[in-house]
Amino acid sequence: MPAESIRVGGLVPLTSIDYPGELAAVVFTQGCPWRCVYCHNPSLLPARGDSEMPWSQVLQFLDSRRGLLDAVVFSGGEPTSQPALPQAIEQVRGMGFKIGLHSAGIYPRKLQKLLPLIDWIGLDVKAKKADYSLITRTRDSGEAAWRSAELVLASGVAHQFRITAHPSWLDDSDAQWIRDRLLAMGAESVVIQQGRLHD
Ligand code: SF4
Repeated sequence: MPAESIRVGGLVPLTSIDYPGELAAVVFTQGCPWRCVYCHNPSLLPARGDSEMPWSQVLQFLDSRRGLLDAVVFSGGEPTSQPALPQAIEQVRGMGFKIGLHSAGIYPRKLQKLLPLIDWIGLDVKAKKADYSLITRTRDSGEAAWRSAELVLASGVAHQFRITAHPSWLDDSDAQWIRDRLLAMGAESVVIQQGRLHD
């Protein structure tokens, strides 16, 4: 699968918060199969977007940032839904950047193959397994996400698990239960952030 076929819906040229401790650019991939009640990137959900960017343009930008940025983070949407993601990662790594990945753990088997290619992952854990579909509106999403969490921990890749709490979908006690469960599984970094519904 050629890297050029990756679908990019947006680019943030500089951030210090999307890859802890590193100055990064963020590439937002287009498309996500889940429909979370609080998704803040609804324009990135359809498989095709209105403002897609050619991959060549992303590479051109990154070329101009060699030596100025430490890392490139692939975010979304859901980056692991892109068949060309491994090839795109290899190209960006070849330019000298570290690779970060944001994922909701939607495709555990794809994630397992990607983990050796990346330096850091931010993985969303949205709910207890049985409650997942209430948030994602997608059947069996809890199995996928918790399996992905196990794979991240087994891989040894640097990570941060992110839990989004809100009284409407994940109360504080459930958020803390998830954090404690992840820590007991061996997680090194778990953050609970307060969510909000978009307007
Ligand atoms: S998994 Fe992420 S991108 Fe997909 S719908 Fe949920 S919040 Fe939005």
